[in-house]
Amino acid sequence: MERLFGKKRNVRQLLIGSGGALCIAVLFCAPIRAQNKSTVTECAGQVLTVRFQVDCSHVADPATKALCPVFAQNQACKVFPAYQQITGIHLQDWCSTVQYIIYDKDKWSMSGAPSGAGGYTVGCRTQYMADYSLLLKSEIGPYDVHEILHDYQIALGGLPYTHILFGPSMAEATRLIGDSERYAALMKDGQRDMGRIKDQLERGAVAPDTECLDAELTTEFSLYLKDPNNVRQFYLVLTHDGEMQTRDPQSRFDQMYDKVSGGTARPYLLQHGCRFF
Ligand SMILES: [Zn+2]
Repeated sequence: MERLFGKKRNVRQLLIGSGGALCIAVLFCAPIRAQNKSTVTECAGQVLTVRFQVDCSHVADPATKALCPVFAQNQACKVFPAYQQITGIHLQDWCSTVQYIIYDKDKWSMSGAPSGAGGYTVGCRTQYMADYSLLLKSEIGPYDVHEILHDYQIALGGLPYTHILFGPSMAEATRLIGDSERYAALMKDGQRDMGRIKDQLERGAVAPDTECLDAELTTEFSLYLKDPNNVRQFYLVLTHDGEMQTRDPQSRFDQMYDKVSGGTARPYLLQHGCRFF
């Protein structure tokens, strides 16, 4: 510990040289000073309405742990404003703090998350395996556009499916934060999946209990492809639905798709087992 500190000071002194080079020293020293916890409460001098806390105390490798502040900064200053713009939802009404607890793969069982999951979110608190969070490679560094969306969707009330609207929402968030490579990959995967499911629906090769959901997922992605702004409309219509808590979630989403499509989604959804009531 003492030796590491001494070493760090030497590096800092070498880099600083004169007072004017302090920012360079901080940039270079930051990865060496691996923090256990990172909290971001403001971006570019603007105080945020939600605090972002990332706990990396269950991550052993110093180089991975050093990504903790980058991840926290990306969540607070890139992903948060992107989803505010996409969903129009005031996350602060549901979460005063968004918390991430990151685990190394070998410590993941300690998290209590369901087996098979790489991330798990309940009530503004996400447990994440480092492989899917801190170690995500991108041109802007590591970030999360999946788990945080579960926090936003609390505002939508009952959902027909845990990952409803995730395809278009995640693609649009990735585009807004400037990860063009991942955006291209998500669009490619989305179009491939949509083509496959549409084909299965046409051939009647889908189990009746998932038919409507499959039709909804292909509908939302086609609407997003047609006009990227449609993803904002999905959330706008859903959050301005006065009967939100009293209606059947599936039917409520079907009405929304139909409204955003300008009345063209209804025949397709009806044809594939969805019911409007
Ligand atoms: Zn999920």
